[in-house]
Amino acid sequence: MDNLSRFVNYVKIDTQSDDTTGTTPSTEKQKNLGLLLVHELLELGLDDAHMDEFGNVYGHLPGKGSRIGLNAHMDTALEVTGENVKPHLIRKYAGGTIVLANGLRMDPKEFPVLNKHIGHDLVVTDGNTLLGADDKAGIAIIMNALQYYKNHPEEKHSTICVCFTVDEEIGEGPLHFNYRKMNAKYAYTIDGSSIDKIECENFNAYSATVNFKGVSIHPGEGKGKLINALNLASEFVSMLPKETPYESEDKEGFYHLTGIEGTCELAKLTMIIRDFKDKGMNKRIDTINEVVKKLNKLYPTANIEVSFKKQYVNMRKYVDKKPMAIRRAKEALKNNGIEPSLGAIRGGTDGATFSKCGLITPNLGTGSYNHHGRYEFLDVQEFEKMISVVIDLVK
Ligand SMILES: [Zn+2]
Repeated sequence: MDNLSRFVNYVKIDTQSDDTTGTTPSTEKQKNLGLLLVHELLELGLDDAHMDEFGNVYGHLPGKGSRIGLNAHMDTALEVTGENVKPHLIRKYAGGTIVLANGLRMDPKEFPVLNKHIGHDLVVTDGNTLLGADDKAGIAIIMNALQYYKNHPEEKHSTICVCFTVDEEIGEGPLHFNYRKMNAKYAYTIDGSSIDKIECENFNAYSATVNFKGVSIHPGEGKGKLINALNLASEFVSMLPKETPYESEDKEGFYHLTGIEGTCELAKLTMIIRDFKDKGMNKRIDTINEVVKKLNKLYPTANIEVSFKKQYVNMRKYVDKKPMAIRRAKEALKNNGIEPSLGAIRGGTDGATFSKCGLITPNLGTGSYNHHGRYEFLDVQEFEKMISVVIDLVK
């Protein structure tokens, strides 16, 4: 089986996760891919390969030296379906607009990233689904690297600790991840885009829920008495700093509303808060608390309450304490003619939580782009290059 066919086999298996089921895995169908991977891992000589009760797949290929972990996630994003994916190969992309099979157009004016892939072979969707290169490209890269060592038993390598997780897209990859079973000294998620990037920094993340209790009476007699909970919610929003995803980039954080619902009497607002710095995050939480306090003072007969939930933390401070993983990744990229650059993710990865729990896990690229949608594509040459990088990484 060639490297690309392996990728194509994986994307044809629907593994979309679901944030409403409350189970792990959130969808049973993720196990269909898990079972195939166990079967292939056993064939590749990872004799202990198995899937646990949560759908996570583990396996180890014994070697010499450090125990190095490789991780990719099996599920695909919620935004667009992953059912009946029909990948289409464009040989030697000549530039210009790509028309997908269903008529959707990928114009470089809208997706300037395409200009960086002229001359390369691209795998695109038929416009009806996502591609699922996030993160089946990561899985295929790891499996193809293992295939290389199977084909070259004379080549020495580290002990390779593999884990494929479920439910990354709903933020639950680390929920039932077994660190002892993984048993790696440090690890990498292969779950990014550009292959020159080593991502070792991500947002600190909180969610907040604000409950507004108004005072409801007949609006005709409302003067001085009726306090509309929906208006309170809207006033709350207007009192926040104008720092939304629309206004921020690079290392700037934001407040982002994710839901608002209610009636005159009761309203509920949900939001997420992001900041790279601990101090910045604390300041944002203080700001929200201040606004709530002000509103309660302004409307003493109403009641406004806020609660916060920690989602994930910036892995940077953990990674900095054990620089080995970054050093090794830089070497592997350079050995393959790629000039590495350190990157920050304006989001989070499973690796952020792994790193916090002691398993340092930076993120590496896959050569796939425009994740979570119909315009997702894979650069085949970058994908192939990344297989060499991973082979080198565990050498
Ligand atoms: Zn991903």
